[in-house]
Amino acid sequence: MAFKIYNTLSRKKEIFKPLKGKTVRMYTCGPTVYDYAHIGNLRTYVNEDLLKRYLLWKGFRVKHVTNVTDVGHLTDDADQGEDKMVVAEQREHKSAWDIAAFYEKVFKNDLELLGALMPDIWCRATDHISEQITLVRTLERKGYTYKIRDGVYFDTSRLKDYGKLARLNIEGLKAGARVEVTAGKRNATDFALWKLTPAGTLRHMEWDSPWGRGFPGWHIECSAMAMKYLGRTLDVHAGGIDHIPVHHTNEIAQSEAATGRPFAKYWFHCEFLNVSDTKISDNWSETSKARPLKMAKSKGNFLRLQSVIDETFTPRQLRFFYLTAHYRTQQLFSWESLKNAANTLDKLDEFMDRLARHKNGKSSTAVRKLVAEVRKEFERTMDDDLNVPEMWASLHHFVGSINKLLETKAMASRDAQRVLDTMHDFDSVLAVLRKEERPLPAEVKKLIEQREEMRKQKDFTAADELRKRLLDQYGIEVQDTSEGPRWRFIK
Ligand code: AMP
Ligand code: ZN
Repeated sequence: MAFKIYNTLSRKKEIFKPLKGKTVRMYTCGPTVYDYAHIGNLRTYVNEDLLKRYLLWKGFRVKHVTNVTDVGHLTDDADQGEDKMVVAEQREHKSAWDIAAFYEKVFKNDLELLGALMPDIWCRATDHISEQITLVRTLERKGYTYKIRDGVYFDTSRLKDYGKLARLNIEGLKAGARVEVTAGKRNATDFALWKLTPAGTLRHMEWDSPWGRGFPGWHIECSAMAMKYLGRTLDVHAGGIDHIPVHHTNEIAQSEAATGRPFAKYWFHCEFLNVSDTKISDNWSETSKARPLKMAKSKGNFLRLQSVIDETFTPRQLRFFYLTAHYRTQQLFSWESLKNAANTLDKLDEFMDRLARHKNGKSSTAVRKLVAEVRKEFERTMDDDLNVPEMWASLHHFVGSINKLLETKAMASRDAQRVLDTMHDFDSVLAVLRKEERPLPAEVKKLIEQREEMRKQKDFTAADELRKRLLDQYGIEVQDTSEGPRWRFIK
């Protein structure tokens, strides 16, 4: 059976076929590390993870690259406003470097807690300045750029198909263009490739370039790094839908202008997580007749993963909640709907427990038939552009039928094992089932406590050594959080 994926470029579901063999080269636009990711951002990353896991399930290999935007993303998408990192510097009275390092770490931790597979390559914009400069020079050589006082810009009128991803109405845009755009900019859609540091300004993040000291524009990092690690044409490029009109449109423009080849075969975009326009509060619920709003940092209506954990929900419950909705539909967040999702997940956990405990029943052919059916349904629904609502419907139906057989003992323990194996197989894609808890050996518990003591005494060198020993010897990763040490088996 063939996997069909909706391609924003064609606005159609297409049969998925990588450009070369069975390896999928996938690039996902990562976070801007000036603040915590909110649970809207995280919905996008979980759906990208679902895609990656399903590709793996279908037998593809996936080479996955994600960037970390630690410079150049301005507060206004039209190359106006301040660098978000500089805004964070003013807010936190720390250097942009420290801020980026801090939020990058939190972000990666959030992803791990949400059960996302880590990319093969993480790449920071600030580690790839020379690649970005080289790409801008190529564009300059080919006549796609012009320099003004503010920096080097990409001339979008030089491309016949500029805006094809978003199907932008360029004429309409010209007519409606704002007059206060950057002085010297030739077209409303032109965008910065390299911004010059304004005279008399001090930046913590700036570099020399052939055009003067400054920093890269936001979009150029993704083109430079995606092509460096994955080649000139990617199989999949993913991000949230807000990236369609500006960021991805500009990535396509500069990449295709530089190479003369298509930048990506499939464009995968995730819809927003919304909240109602009543501010987050105890009585904030889906049933209130409030208007849905995009969750956004600028609107002050955002929740972090930690806020959800503080309300005693687990990251696994949040992941399950995300995966109840199709990635191309908007999803409305409320505590009520998260609670409902958590209850459904509890039932799945109970089902797994019941199967694991099941002994002594009569063997029946019904189980084999149900398993074969549900496997077929799983693949059919997921092949249809990751149609999770239909997938869950068939899975819940399956659970109901198996539960009946369990009640009447019309099932041998090896049938129960067959069902468990099937559920675990699906879970390699969904990653929502409870993981087996391995008890912590007493000696390890002691070591973790000793390490806490070392940290209290500010003997960080010894604490770091012990952390490494816990990892090397026992396969346990310890993380220090504001609530104390957190550990998990990683081997
Ligand atoms: P940013 O860190 O702002 O670059 O955003 C990270 C990712 O989250 C991008 O792919 C955005 O498109 C996506 N995103 C932003 N807001 C939301 C939202 N409310 N729901 C889902 N995804 C979002
Ligand atoms: Zn990007």
